[in-house]
Amino acid sequence: MPFTTLRLTDRVSLIQETGVANFLRCNIWHVRGRDCDLVIDTGMGLGPLKDWVRRDSDRPLKAICTHCHFDHMGSLHEFDCRLGHRAEAHVFADPTADAVVYSGDWARIEIVSPQAHPDFLPETWTITPAPLTGHLDEGDVLDLGDVAYQVLHVPGHSPGSIALWDRKSRTVFSGDAVYDGDLLDALYHSDPATYRLTLERLRDLDAEVFHGGHYPSFGKARLREIVDAYLRGGQTMGSVGDWYDGMKAAMDDAYAAQDWSKAIDA
Ligand SMILES: [Zn+2]
Repeated sequence: MPFTTLRLTDRVSLIQETGVANFLRCNIWHVRGRDCDLVIDTGMGLGPLKDWVRRDSDRPLKAICTHCHFDHMGSLHEFDCRLGHRAEAHVFADPTADAVVYSGDWARIEIVSPQAHPDFLPETWTITPAPLTGHLDEGDVLDLGDVAYQVLHVPGHSPGSIALWDRKSRTVFSGDAVYDGDLLDALYHSDPATYRLTLERLRDLDAEVFHGGHYPSFGKARLREIVDAYLRGGQTMGSVGDWYDGMKAAMDDAYAAQDWSKAIDA
């Protein structure tokens, strides 16, 4: 099976790509609405994501990409409705290896299981172009009929990073602006000073649930710890090679399903 689905609530499911290492596997969120559904981020594109989502829903689908990195935008091209921030529109249209951060050390570390994906060739793998069909920016609202998500522009990790915020359920889909792991602020288009402002803003948001772009979801107390650690100079990745070595050593089995038992009761 190319994916697994974990139904967290009536509203929200987590979809995970099979055979992608835990430490880099993007969280793909399926959000069910009355009139349409959202697919937030799309993984590396190793399997047919839209078909997989269609098994659970026949409503119209809007695919949102929180930012233009290779681990989030791989299956974006499968969807008719493709939404993201204007600042990264050129990358979605022309996803070169450098632009999607699949180059240098990132293309050398093993992130896809050769057993699960024998046809995946890391040296020649590319992202399929997925030009945006619409732009999302600060203050825009995605109305699904029975829930409405406000778009937050949360730059720093990348210039066009966005998050979605539902004030009623106090839930944020935060992409890579914040997740429960080492944060990345040293990519070619990252901006650490801007990132600090974004994290301070997220810390001040009255949110209870954070569904990040990677790793299990968490609540307000953990968010404070993550942000405060970052602002003190910790919780960052440093060199990709060292980080990778550390992650590999810490994982019993990098390709196993992620343990969500410690995640907050979302
Ligand atoms: Zn990213």
